[in-house]
Amino acid sequence: MTPSDTAPHSADTDIAANLAEVQAKVADAARNASRDPADITLIAVGKTFDAASMVPALSAGQRVFGENRVQEAEDKWPALRDQFPDICLHLIGPLQSNKVRKAVEVFDVIETVDRPKLARALAKVMTETGRRPDCFIQVNTGAEDQKAGVLPEDADAFIAQCRDDFALPVVGLMCIPPVDEEPSLHFQLLAEIARRNGLDQLSMGMSADFEIAVAFGATHVRVGSAIFGTRPKPA
Ligand SMILES: *Cc1c(COP(=O)(O)O)cnc(C)c1O
Repeated sequence: MTPSDTAPHSADTDIAANLAEVQAKVADAARNASRDPADITLIAVGKTFDAASMVPALSAGQRVFGENRVQEAEDKWPALRDQFPDICLHLIGPLQSNKVRKAVEVFDVIETVDRPKLARALAKVMTETGRRPDCFIQVNTGAEDQKAGVLPEDADAFIAQCRDDFALPVVGLMCIPPVDEEPSLHFQLLAEIARRNGLDQLSMGMSADFEIAVAFGATHVRVGSAIFGTRPKPA
């Protein structure tokens, strides 16, 4: 698929109802873990769906969204921002160094900082533009070859490098657990790396496991299909 190739959501998908249900589940999971529901930000992941599919969520008051491709976000969000200026857009997909300038322009938060070359490029563009999106460091908690993210054993040094050498605004950590493993072990590992590095934001948990992630301290959950429906194409 080309990056900007998006599709409408299915007519049977009631986005506002799905959103309300996910919000309620996040709040329940927070209360069950003796946490304040207000401490958890729901990121609605709109990837592969078109701009019109975002409107029911926006009309219901949702303002925090996630996209995994820079080009798709650039095609979809500027017009929506004209209508809803307080949108907060998170990049949750891999970022190539040659798209850093665009990403800093389009996104408010970049969750996938995972290597020195990218960190250096982000620092350069932030200095030049004065725009400083919050950064999460992505950790490859399952050490999967095909997955982005810094390895757990390299995380402390990379976090220090991002902060000290590149002066990036690092606010937290993000992970995507292996699909076939118990996610709680990965959420626990991410929380531990964050704790020992003095970071208090944790982006973890997707449609299948966001309640578990909340139990393990997620401050941000990234939920796509449970809100917008099954994606029409792989992303
Ligand atoms: C697509 C995606 C999500 C949302 O996945 P769902 O299972 O549809 O909730 C979350 N995080 C990342 C990094 C993604 O790419």
